[in-house]
Amino acid sequence: MVRTRLALARPFVTAHGTETSREVLLVRVLAADGAEGWGECAAPAQPTYTGEWVDSAEAVLRRFLIPALLAGRHPGVVGHPMAAAALEAAVLHLRLALAGTTLATWAGAVRDRVSCGVAVGIASSVDALVAEVAEHLAVGYSRVKLKVRPGWDVEPTAAVRATWPEVALGVDANGAYRHSDLDGAIAALDRLGLVEIEQPLPAADRVGLAEAVRRLRTPVCLDESVGSVADLETALALGAVGHVNLKPGRVGGIVEALRIHDLARERGVPLWIGGMLDTGVAKSVNVALAALPGVTLPGDLPASRRWFIEDLTDPWEVAADGTMAVRPLGGVHVPNP
Ligand code: MG
Repeated sequence: MVRTRLALARPFVTAHGTETSREVLLVRVLAADGAEGWGECAAPAQPTYTGEWVDSAEAVLRRFLIPALLAGRHPGVVGHPMAAAALEAAVLHLRLALAGTTLATWAGAVRDRVSCGVAVGIASSVDALVAEVAEHLAVGYSRVKLKVRPGWDVEPTAAVRATWPEVALGVDANGAYRHSDLDGAIAALDRLGLVEIEQPLPAADRVGLAEAVRRLRTPVCLDESVGSVADLETALALGAVGHVNLKPGRVGGIVEALRIHDLARERGVPLWIGGMLDTGVAKSVNVALAALPGVTLPGDLPASRRWFIEDLTDPWEVAADGTMAVRPLGGVHVPNP
């Protein structure tokens, strides 16, 4: 395992504070001939967004997941999907490199460029938000997603909508609202012509999410509610899903992500690939998945420079048409491991 810290190009504001760097946990596996495979752990630095965090992921990898893999047995670990996903990505990258193929080819990619959106955090003011969105639109992103929470929702979103009436605009609440908000802030957001409202209610509130799907004109996108293909099956049975934001780390890895992709495709559920504070290592996985046939919407696939002064890989760039090239991981350069 390799741990490093990358300076952020701009502060990352969450409900729990402002981060100026990204602490990253990576898994590297080496073959006898020197070939290597890398996997990035999506877990953040603190257990404030997910239960997993970098220290828990490192511990569960060191004590359980890696020893089980080396012993050739199932780890039998409950939870810790981001830790498991990092190990799976590293092993899979190595196996595919040894087999002379790429993740995109192996997974069934059908395009060589993918459509990229950008997610914008809580800003210091509505004016600052509008200025930040303008910067992103100038890059070429084809969809803008605003983070919202009670107290920062209708006014900033309406301001962005008024400034750019035609832009594909969505919001993401990270589950921050309650059932009663379906009559308040969520209903007001529903009138702003959004492409989707992501995770308006907490992950476990599937009954509430089903009600949101019924009551809102805007498609309801699930993020935290889908931790596995079984979760998507449940949501489908309840009518509690409009779109799916698929993050391989959240669901325990690429293999489970492919199962979710296949089910969504079979059931006609629009799907896109989400992201965390990803370096280029995770980006290579996300971009390969975004090239699959069932991915029908632009993903949260920002250019390297949106977050990092220097990425761990060659920079990932977004072209003026809002697309990014699908390419293999390539070399990984870790500063101060
Ligand atoms: Mg989300």
